[in-house]
Amino acid sequence: MPNMRKDKVPMAEQDAKVRAGNFKEVALGYTKEQAMEEAKRCLQCKNMPCVAGCPVAVRIPEFIAQMAQGNILEAYDIITSTNNLPAVCGRVCPQENQCEKYCVRGIKGAPVGIGRLERFAADYAMANLAESDQKQVKAWDKYLDKSIENAENKKSEANSGKKVAVIGSGPSSMTCAADLATMGYAVTVFEALHVAGGVLMYGIPEFRLPKDIVQKEIDKIRTLGVDIQTNVVIGKTLTIDDIKGMGYEAIFIGSGAGLPSFMGVAGENLNGVYSANEFLTRVNLMKAYDPCKSDTPVFIGKTTAVVGGGNVAMDAARSAKRAGAETVYIVYRRGEDELPARIEEVHHAKEEGIIFKLLTNPTAILGDEKGWVKSMECVQMELGEPDASGRRRPVEIKGSDFSLPVDMVIVAIGQSPNPMIKKSTEGLETQKWGGIVADEKTGQTSLEGVFAGGDAVTGAATVILAMGAGKASAKAIDEYLKNK
Ligand SMILES: Cc1cc2nc3c(=O)[nH]c(=O)nc-3n(C[C@H](O)[C@H](O)[C@H](O)COP(=O)(O)OP(=O)(O)OC[C@H]3O[C@@H](n4cnc5c(N)ncnc54)[C@H](O)[C@@H]3O)c2cc1C
Repeated sequence: MPNMRKDKVPMAEQDAKVRAGNFKEVALGYTKEQAMEEAKRCLQCKNMPCVAGCPVAVRIPEFIAQMAQGNILEAYDIITSTNNLPAVCGRVCPQENQCEKYCVRGIKGAPVGIGRLERFAADYAMANLAESDQKQVKAWDKYLDKSIENAENKKSEANSGKKVAVIGSGPSSMTCAADLATMGYAVTVFEALHVAGGVLMYGIPEFRLPKDIVQKEIDKIRTLGVDIQTNVVIGKTLTIDDIKGMGYEAIFIGSGAGLPSFMGVAGENLNGVYSANEFLTRVNLMKAYDPCKSDTPVFIGKTTAVVGGGNVAMDAARSAKRAGAETVYIVYRRGEDELPARIEEVHHAKEEGIIFKLLTNPTAILGDEKGWVKSMECVQMELGEPDASGRRRPVEIKGSDFSLPVDMVIVAIGQSPNPMIKKSTEGLETQKWGGIVADEKTGQTSLEGVFAGGDAVTGAATVILAMGAGKASAKAIDEYLKNK
């Protein structure tokens, strides 16, 4: 009999006051008993609506059935047969709009906590694989050694020797690379930064996605035979044509959307103004919040305004608070109902003391005589008729100008694909806003043998959509190379 409790088994989290002062993970995950209890809420629907809601088609009811019986490693194997980043997805996927949205238990209560269960399976596997070998201190490393052996045995002879290049090492690229390596191709990932992982490493903060967990999942992908070359900027260090000349027979571009947008108001070049991208990269990747450990400590204002209302804005605001800002505002031009961030992220930000200044639009940033930010000029807005996006358009209230004293401003109003690859690649078609033009189903671009997916094609989206695109392109590249 399924467990008919209406709500999800609660998951422990750090107290809001404590966590606002540290970078440790907010959500603490399930125990095995809690995971089994939650797994028993699944009705094992025969038509599996949840699977249709997952862009990488994780075999959800199957893995949950194993978990309900306490077979966690079996559950992990089922998940990883289609998803190479379960610890990541279990933490950051917007499950409320994907698998959990279609869960039948959601009709009369809360859907099954599919994300929480996925996270538990991955964390448990990392901690317990090779458990039978109790003496092994590094169980995960030992497991990786076994994975290398398994991967070698499984590879298709037919594909061996064919080289595929993958540009970028975010979730779209790593999924594409892993699937191609499993099919037997020799895959090289070229990554511009010094660490692999894309936004998972440089964007999403440690307190939502610990970086050692991301690296463990990337290490597992390496064991499939994927070679990751960091510090290689395609468009500068090498071009697409250079890569073709090196014997790569197909290329996947998963270079993301890392170019920040700015407001275009006066004062955006003052000291103390950051794009969210720069601020989060310096905090996450370079640990700039810790002046003792970082060679490049970042300036943190006492009073910080983050402009924007999406997940990136919430991450920047919560990171600024943890890094020492005393007062942090979210400044957003629409209302609470229009905030694009996940409800959970808004809730967490509020709990941590972030102040929301809604229906507020910045018009200029003012500086002191030394060129440092001292305030932000704003106007009050009201909501008018819906615009093309279907959301009510914010309209300025005449004469409502006011000045917000701040000494730091973080601009988090969106990102678009970096034009570097487009500029250095003749014939690669892009949209006006910079997205690479690619077939929706296969990722085929305007150039033969060149495929693309993830944020580089769609603009800023989600981890799981990027992974779905990487998976589809891996399949299309396999077909292309077989028919070549
Ligand atoms: C702060 C923040 C928080 C987010 N939170 C969430 C969340 O909670 N849940 C969610 O689902 N999504 C979230 N997202 C969105 C999600 O992270 C992205 O949609 C996803 O990472 C896109 O994956 P990708 O593989 O297309 O690109 P990316 O992850 O951007 O990876 C692209 C990689 O390509 C590299 N690259 C770029 N140009 C070149 C070049 N010329 N040569 C070589 N390498 C290059 C980059 O350095 C980068 O490593 C968030 C995004 C941000 C910025």
